[in-house]
Amino acid sequence: MTGAMTFNEPPERVELRAVVSAFAGGYGSAYYRAKAKEDAYLTELWREAGKLGYLGVNLPEEYGGGGGGIAELAIVLEELGAAGCPLMMLVVSPAICGTVIARFGTEEQKRTWLPGLADGTRTMAFGITEPDAGSNSHRITTTARRDGDDWLLTGRKVFISGVDIADAVLIVGRTEDARTGRLKPCLFIVPPDAEGFQRRPIDMELHAAEKQFELVLDDVRLPADALVGGSPSHAPGGEDTGLLQLFAGLNPERIMTAAFAIGMGRYALARAVEYARERTVWKTPIGAHQAIAHPLAQAHIDLELARLMTQKAAHLYDAGDDMGAGEAANMAKYAAGEACARAVDQAVHTLGGNGLTREFGLASLVTAARVTRIAPVSREMILNYVSHQTLGLPKSY
Ligand SMILES: Cc1cc2nc3c(=O)[nH]c(=O)nc-3n(C[C@H](O)[C@H](O)[C@H](O)COP(=O)(O)OP(=O)(O)OC[C@H]3O[C@@H](n4cnc5c(N)ncnc54)[C@H](O)[C@@H]3O)c2cc1C
Repeated sequence: MTGAMTFNEPPERVELRAVVSAFAGGYGSAYYRAKAKEDAYLTELWREAGKLGYLGVNLPEEYGGGGGGIAELAIVLEELGAAGCPLMMLVVSPAICGTVIARFGTEEQKRTWLPGLADGTRTMAFGITEPDAGSNSHRITTTARRDGDDWLLTGRKVFISGVDIADAVLIVGRTEDARTGRLKPCLFIVPPDAEGFQRRPIDMELHAAEKQFELVLDDVRLPADALVGGSPSHAPGGEDTGLLQLFAGLNPERIMTAAFAIGMGRYALARAVEYARERTVWKTPIGAHQAIAHPLAQAHIDLELARLMTQKAAHLYDAGDDMGAGEAANMAKYAAGEACARAVDQAVHTLGGNGLTREFGLASLVTAARVTRIAPVSREMILNYVSHQTLGLPKSY
């Protein structure tokens, strides 16, 4: 039947969900929370997930990946989160950096980085946010200038996740176009031990295994092949390749953040439902009171709706429709962030005083859930996007 739509996941994705869920359940939230408390990374979980092929499901088979798409990687992240192990670095390393290198890297960059990103033996962080630019990424000032064949990169970045566990940071900078003199975006693979590269951890009120860093790049000398794609050139259509590279990373980033949020929301909701079925302070369990049951039912509906939009965005992206995926990925990230924050809030409330204890582990999700409303793009910037791009309303800024 032409044009038939199906809302059932194909059997191989159902199977992927089941195996990742079982695998992550073996670690569970107790493992995740213990690591966060010790200030240690989830190295065992990351490495084992890599060996099993989960981290690189979206990367090309010829470079050690699974040959799937963002749809598969989103399933991996959602199921990890639903088991209490939300792995933020999955958004960054295989989804953003892996995608950009697979689509735009030179053959050598692909061979150097993709097998390690796929099996988890190498990790890459991603740095675009700057202290004086924030949501306005057009304003970034990190600049690369030529020095012979090398590049010298100077600038500041803030809130960059996982730099301490990364083998390199994919830094978004700008370089002067030789023809027009205009500054245009370009992406560099920067090793954190390069001279002139300084990092300082930011003291976040966040119970997570990944830390955030402020970076200072002071004339960091990079070889010519640190630039993704090898040379600051133009695509056949005349567009700056740096801009295309950046856009190629943004849709996977939003789709994966949506999956991260849905997984965390599902985890919190499941804990609340378990509790509401058992806890009895009058004649019936508290879950029989509609004041408790209905908000949990609403949270479930919101998470399901967000997942549908996430699946649509992943489908469009994997089918090569970058433009269509852009709108859907933004809407999915918005819906998932809102659904996650509400699910976590309602879960904490359902547990009463226990919702705020360390033992039940839900209170720490309150700040983690807020991240999905702020990063990688805030809810207001998504509402701006939909206002301008979809509805055609005028801009205030
Ligand atoms: C835990 C965490 C991890 C992160 N990891 C990374 C990472 O790995 N790499 C990276 O590059 N960045 C990372 N970030 C940064 C993140 O992407 C930014 O925090 C986010 O883009 C918002 O930028 P900002 O914090 O500068 O806020 P601002 O841009 O200063 O915005 C502040 C507030 O003003 C609102 N606002 C701004 N402009 C408008 C407007 N035009 N209309 C309406 N409202 C507006 C925003 O919505 C927001 O509510 C991370 C952030 C967090 C919290």
